[in-house]
Amino acid sequence: MAFSRRDFVKTSVLGAVAAGVGTLAQGEELAAQQHESQSSSYKRPIIIAAHNGFNYIEDPYTFLKNGGDTLDAALRVVKGPEDDPKDTSVGLGGLPNEEGVVELDSCCMHGPTRRAGSVGGMRNIKNVSLVAKAVMTDTGHVMLVGEGAERFAVARGFPRENLLTDHSRKIWLLWKEYHSNNDWWGPGLADPRWQAPQEQPEGKPQSELWRERFLRLEEHAADLGIAPELRREAVYKVLFPPTGTIHCSALNEKGEISGCTTTSGLAYKLPGRVGDSPIIGAGCYTDQDVGSAGATGSGEENIKVAGAHTIIENMRHGMTPKEAGLDALQRIVRNYNHDMKKLQFVDMVYYVLRKDGAYAGVSLWTGYEASKPHQIVVHDGTRRVENTTPVFQAFSHDFPPEPKLPAEVKKQFE
Ligand code: ASP
Repeated sequence: MAFSRRDFVKTSVLGAVAAGVGTLAQGEELAAQQHESQSSSYKRPIIIAAHNGFNYIEDPYTFLKNGGDTLDAALRVVKGPEDDPKDTSVGLGGLPNEEGVVELDSCCMHGPTRRAGSVGGMRNIKNVSLVAKAVMTDTGHVMLVGEGAERFAVARGFPRENLLTDHSRKIWLLWKEYHSNNDWWGPGLADPRWQAPQEQPEGKPQSELWRERFLRLEEHAADLGIAPELRREAVYKVLFPPTGTIHCSALNEKGEISGCTTTSGLAYKLPGRVGDSPIIGAGCYTDQDVGSAGATGSGEENIKVAGAHTIIENMRHGMTPKEAGLDALQRIVRNYNHDMKKLQFVDMVYYVLRKDGAYAGVSLWTGYEASKPHQIVVHDGTRRVENTTPVFQAFSHDFPPEPKLPAEVKKQFE
């Protein structure tokens, strides 16, 4: 990249002067002018987003290019997955908590006016990112949670609706059933389908145990009325609860920048659990002087390193977007004392946009598997997907920790 740390620090000085703060020495002015020509290598306007923003980024880009507000552009991107019942990680159709209730989290920051809004653990309202914006514009608060957030949204005209689609409900029931050895979910003693738990012969091979698990779940999925073509996907979502979320940051030609993040959070979480996505400074952070960053992945880990804020501060002190993001990831690694046995179950992706248009996608791991690398969606006139830069060039392990799915079983149940 043509943009050095020194240049960036100097540009910040120029920004301060343009705003009428302080004065520039002649040498600094020259350096700042040089930077102007160098930074033209980065394109503006630009929008970056998580992979699930790909299908929704085109119109917001045109909107931004035609002078639309940066936050409104970002919100138009994330509204796509929020409205899409097939995206089980965001908004309508998001996988529910362990009691079968969808609880959504979101936050946003508007760079030009330096304002923020957030909602956590919100039920029954699909477009939580727009509610987060309404908290920002229509209240003197920054964050509302739970029942109060829902009542506020209804008062502002957001429709209440059932966010648990039939498909998500059935996946949740399948998950309940899978964990039901010790409770009253699933066939009872009087049910003709009831089977006594089988004694597991010592040393039964892992592949055999996995095969049995898949077959049992597929059978239950059929009992629940899950359509044959959707059964395997449902079984995977039970065995390996998916992560998701969407973050989006948008920068216009004038250098105004905003960001937002929205999610249904971890599948089957404890009711009331709030992740990183609505935490300003963790799931999203935007500073008009520096840039915007957001996150998807292990929310608990991201909260502990205040990921998005850490990245912005790193860039403020001269790091490139990539360096800034990788440093935040290294803090997660340090929190586990580099213990790879634990870190293999953690994953994190950061999306970073600097106010001159430089950007980066970084991740703890390369992805889930070779065919599913972590990716960032970019639109700066050309819409594209780029692989992230990982800290570890290998694949994360699904959570919860179970012995790894043997390759031959995976092949059979693909
Ligand atoms: N970060 C989200 C959360 O912890 C989940 C995700 O991105 O998959 O709620």
